[in-house]
Amino acid sequence: MEKQFIPLSVPNLKGNELAYVTEAVKTEWVSTAGPYIADFEKAAADYVHVPAACACQSGTAGLHLALKVLGIQPGEEVLVPTLTFVAAVNPVHYIGADPVFMDCDDTLTLDPKKLKRFCEEECEFDGNILKNKTSCRKVTALVVVHVFGNLADMEEIMSLAGTYHLKVIEDATEALGSCYREGAYEGRYAGTIGDIGVFSFNGNKIITTGGGGMVVSQNPELTERCRFLSTQAKKDTVYFVHEEIGYNYRMTNLQAALGLAQLEQLEEFIRIKKENYELYQKEGIKLLPFRSDIRSNYWFYSYLTDNRDGLIRYLEQHQIQSRPVWKLIHTLKPYAESRAYQIEKALWYYDRIVNIPCSSNLEGESVKRVAERIHSFLKEQT
Ligand SMILES: *Cc1c(COP(=O)(O)O)cnc(C)c1O
Repeated sequence: MEKQFIPLSVPNLKGNELAYVTEAVKTEWVSTAGPYIADFEKAAADYVHVPAACACQSGTAGLHLALKVLGIQPGEEVLVPTLTFVAAVNPVHYIGADPVFMDCDDTLTLDPKKLKRFCEEECEFDGNILKNKTSCRKVTALVVVHVFGNLADMEEIMSLAGTYHLKVIEDATEALGSCYREGAYEGRYAGTIGDIGVFSFNGNKIITTGGGGMVVSQNPELTERCRFLSTQAKKDTVYFVHEEIGYNYRMTNLQAALGLAQLEQLEEFIRIKKENYELYQKEGIKLLPFRSDIRSNYWFYSYLTDNRDGLIRYLEQHQIQSRPVWKLIHTLKPYAESRAYQIEKALWYYDRIVNIPCSSNLEGESVKRVAERIHSFLKEQT
């Protein structure tokens, strides 16, 4: 029997988590009010340099709120990537809009060239509204996902969005801490470049609140509106007056206590993840690179192989968890009827990517064990 099981990506809770959660329990502030919520929002906003943030129940809830407050309407079309987690796209459906699936480039994020071609060739623009020539629907927004902690080409994407009056929702759920080091967006963090950005604190993300999310924006009116909608759109707290439909999406003080403690350690987690990413390479495991003009958070490591399923099975037999990239969303049953535009690269990467262990509490010895196993798998292949 081989030593210990090495999981893919698990929480690391060795800071002030227990102390803060204990404090929340002791003071009996456990629900959707309490000091940790505002503290966590302030700390997250400060960290990514935005004026305000709105903490909510999940990244998915955050994305739903983001589409709502940007005014995306039922029947409109929203451009989305096919290579990502389905939670980036489902909120488009929640609001009654339709996703149009786009390809990725070699960063695994939206290919700006294909986006541009789609807008130019498949749509018409009257100087104000972009319209899909095939469906005759308005195209009003795009969801860009910063896959695995890489950043999309925001310079190109923002310029295109400016040209065609598209709202930009940044799904930065996997990229908290990633930022541009040069270019037009030097110093800008994932989630703070588009109209609105969303983080997730699910258990497998770089920091966790068990489950949770955060909406950020350079425009504090948008995050304020998210807060309003996330608390049932309550106009009057005494008489409970509601003039529109809201949601129960607010984060709890317990989650925020965990989140604040986690955020204190984020830079340390990124340091360790970078170190392990480099150690894999030193051990001869070539991983997909992150953009050279960014500081990545190194959330997930991608290894390319022609025998994806074989490698995953082999590692599993040796107590190592790994995973293929998500089944492409345009091939999933609920989206089988949706439009997809020239998907090619995403298919290629889908067939080849294996994500290998990357937790921030992964020890160097474990990295070496995973590397050795990949090498022995390759040897057995030949
Ligand atoms: C994790 C994730 C989400 C959703 O976050 P939850 O907090 O689990 O709802 C959305 N999009 C992407 C790309 C993700 O990886």
